[in-house]
Amino acid sequence: MGKFYITTAIPYVNALPHMGHMLEFVQGDVIARYNRLKGDDVLLLTGADENSLTNVKAADEQKIKPQELVDKNSVKFIEYGKRMEISFDVFARSSASHSKEHWPGVQELWKLADKSGDIYEKEYSGLYCIRCELFYTEEELDHGLCPIHKIKLELVSERNYFFRLSKYQERIKRLIESGELRIVPETRKNEVLGVINEGLKDFSVSRSITRARGWGVPVPGSKDQIIYVWFDALSIYITGIGYGTDPAKFKKWWPADVHVIGKDIIRFHALYWPAMLMSAGLELPRTIFVHGFVNLAKQKMSKTRGNVVDPVKLLEKYTPDELKYYLISDIPTFDDGEFSEEALADRINKELLGDLGNLVNRVLTLVEKTGKNSFSGKKELQEKLKLDLITQHLDALELQKALNEVMAFVRECNKYINDKKPWTLKGEDLDSVLYNLLESIRIIAILASPFLPVTSQRINEQLGTRPGVLKDCKFRDDFKGRIKKGEHLFKKIE
Ligand SMILES: [Zn+2]
Repeated sequence: MGKFYITTAIPYVNALPHMGHMLEFVQGDVIARYNRLKGDDVLLLTGADENSLTNVKAADEQKIKPQELVDKNSVKFIEYGKRMEISFDVFARSSASHSKEHWPGVQELWKLADKSGDIYEKEYSGLYCIRCELFYTEEELDHGLCPIHKIKLELVSERNYFFRLSKYQERIKRLIESGELRIVPETRKNEVLGVINEGLKDFSVSRSITRARGWGVPVPGSKDQIIYVWFDALSIYITGIGYGTDPAKFKKWWPADVHVIGKDIIRFHALYWPAMLMSAGLELPRTIFVHGFVNLAKQKMSKTRGNVVDPVKLLEKYTPDELKYYLISDIPTFDDGEFSEEALADRINKELLGDLGNLVNRVLTLVEKTGKNSFSGKKELQEKLKLDLITQHLDALELQKALNEVMAFVRECNKYINDKKPWTLKGEDLDSVLYNLLESIRIIAILASPFLPVTSQRINEQLGTRPGVLKDCKFRDDFKGRIKKGEHLFKKIE
């Protein structure tokens, strides 16, 4: 049994979860659940980037202390993950209330980078976006505003510590080109290589305690500097699994097999993070999976633009499985997608209820009439199952393609019913058709489980079978269960 360590990005918790978080959580969850099916020991980590200045400003607006804000909001993210049935193993937090878990590791990473000669002091002044927590050059601005957040930047000038990113330029380039550090999809890999070819500049890794408002992890040995939020936040990927506190745990899980991130933070993950790890002599993550944005009216959803669909509200109307199904099947895995409630309802009615729900319902109705629980016959549907293709897609992180193939098999099963007309059959002929359908449904419950975990469990309950793993996705010589048709798996959305 291998290990598989996967992370989502660590959201700022200045506000409540939005659609982008929902997509990212679901994608991370699907990949984690698939690797559990393979039999790997899996750890799925998310957490909260609590030390950002954004949180201090959000707390100011609410007239509360930053700690109070992040405590309150982090819990909302944890609750949301639970309600969405996301199989997180770790929710790592970075602020003072969790300093025992997180701070020793960040400071250790800092000290090692310093020892490698990669940290130095410099006077700096520039335009700073407090939402990105990043300096921009004039050329990078969009009509004088932050290209991502479309807000005014602040002119900031101070003496900071810098990290020698430029020193790692050629090494990072080689690692990405060779695929040793894999960036998926290819277009994002090329984008990163383009950035490297323009030349990498050293970046600031601290800020004054005044500008940070005293909020964050102190720079080791300094009285007036706080560790820059990206250096701090990225470290959660290692401190969340014991770096600096639990060496055995860290050794078990690191390096990360997949970091799931949005396209807006690729620079930090594909350039800063590998350089920081190399500087400290740590192994690099294996794969960076980059998804797009969930758009509404062709714009990234964001609070500042007010075009937000509330993912918590969606849970009052739809089940987690329905939302997961929609996000994976409708939003391109690696590109921007448009959120539409009409498309969501359409997918539920046509595909979940019409294809999958009806298949299970039709077959179990026929089976119950026979009063039997075990069936055998000639394997006819097995060849329609493209198991290798489905696992290839999942291994390549092509989640949408994999789900499409699972659903194609569901439709093959419905076609088989229409062709065989089992309601006209008797005896061995009927047994054989039901055997094929029950074995197919048992396997569908396994292959759909990364995407539809609750539905998959309900199918198993109705079949009276145990939840299977990937190696159970072969037709057995007979089907044995304890069939008890339950309620329809999905309800029609009006
Ligand atoms: Zn910005």
